[in-house]
Amino acid sequence: MMTGEQYIESIHSMKMRIFCMGEELETAVGHPILQPSLNSVKMTYELAEDPKYHELATAVSHLTGHKINRFTHIHESCDDLVKKVKLQRVLGQKTASCFQRCVGLDAINAVYSTTYDIDKKYGTEYFERFKKFLIYCQEKDLTVDGAMTDPKGNRKLPPHLQDDPDLYLRIVERRPDGVIVRGAKAHQTGICNSHEVLVMPTIALSDEDKDYAVSFAVPTDSEGIVMIIGRQSCDTRKLEGSCQDTGNCKFGGVEALTVFNDVFVPNERIFMNGEARYAGLLVERFAGYHRQSYGGCKVGVGDVLIGAAALAAESNGVESTSHIKDKLIEMTHLNETMYACGIACSCQGHPTPSGNYDIDTLLANVCKQNVTRIPYEIARLSQDIAGGLMVTAPSEKDCANPTAGPLIEKYLSAASSFTTKERIKILRLIENLTMGTAAVGYLTESMHGAGSPQAQRIMIARQGKLEHKKLLAKEILGIE
Ligand code: SF4
Ligand code: FE
Repeated sequence: MMTGEQYIESIHSMKMRIFCMGEELETAVGHPILQPSLNSVKMTYELAEDPKYHELATAVSHLTGHKINRFTHIHESCDDLVKKVKLQRVLGQKTASCFQRCVGLDAINAVYSTTYDIDKKYGTEYFERFKKFLIYCQEKDLTVDGAMTDPKGNRKLPPHLQDDPDLYLRIVERRPDGVIVRGAKAHQTGICNSHEVLVMPTIALSDEDKDYAVSFAVPTDSEGIVMIIGRQSCDTRKLEGSCQDTGNCKFGGVEALTVFNDVFVPNERIFMNGEARYAGLLVERFAGYHRQSYGGCKVGVGDVLIGAAALAAESNGVESTSHIKDKLIEMTHLNETMYACGIACSCQGHPTPSGNYDIDTLLANVCKQNVTRIPYEIARLSQDIAGGLMVTAPSEKDCANPTAGPLIEKYLSAASSFTTKERIKILRLIENLTMGTAAVGYLTESMHGAGSPQAQRIMIARQGKLEHKKLLAKEILGIE
């Protein structure tokens, strides 16, 4: 396995094409806006090195018998699924941000079982190819970006009827040695921090959309791949170099519009090529795993936010006030509700025909549906406790100014348990998590990541067994 430092060096040595705020970057490494997101992924390597987290952060490959990072592991049991969620909670606690590596883990598990199913149906060889790719990722300890979301253009129209056929990623040329693909994947979490990108279709497809039914993996610095970094609220505070004003200057997440400009994919890296009727199954499996994931990562970030709210209360001297205590209890109750769902859908997992374990679909969708709401309520309560100073506190530079600094010190001091500077830092962290760069991961991604709320409601409707429930009522009532 790689150490954290080796991971950073390995990303540095790649030749990705990254655009950020109008500039093409040589590398993401060292860039003030992007380095915090690299630090978050680095934590997935550091945890695997730490004996304290050995059990959670590492696993044994069922393909090689070697010790590997859990982020490259195929789930072999419900216990593996539970450990994944627990690991994600720890990483959320340690980074207070999106640590990005889970999309790849969720993608490899979804592609693993689906390639097996496709081979059984059509006699193809995708499963063996995929296992070779997986062993390569496990042995090199690579970070893989799981890429699903196409730009989708006019939502009324299927891919082949779009005005611009590239609005869904597609095969534009088939050659004896591989295929050429064109299109884009939108808001790709962690793409510029990943070694490989594992592409999947974004929706269920019909045979008319055969060219869009494609899954493959290529290195992220392949010829033709261009990443355009998305802006985050308050991102330029990172450029100012003030840790205090940033709220969390060590860690962050990143998303990018990732364009595939006629990228060549060799045969051995193609895992679906026209099997349109399996696109839906692959999407469902990936979405299911990622909906489980949020019952871990968002809970860990929530732990930090609850802690920051409790510190803010202490710094104001109101920690014993009954309504403050009750709000902290409510935040804890809500946070653990998401965790309960993440653990439950893992415990109720089941083996797929390929042998790896999938989550309980209904419970994973209930998990994610809760995640579309609960972090917003936790954020609201944390802002309630924090008070208005969270958004009116002066800058670090003013704190250091010989005239303004002492005035800030005098008039913004509160309970003696914290210095004024510490009080401001605590509030800035709450601001970062609920309105700043980290709000992308903690709030908006909770809403739309792994599918927007309506996507879960569709799955809940499908899995909810309403007819069975009607029968239960009829039985009680003696109605035929
Ligand atoms: Fe992992 Fe959560 Fe980020 Fe998704 S949002 S990549 S599950 S940390
Ligand atoms: Fe996500």
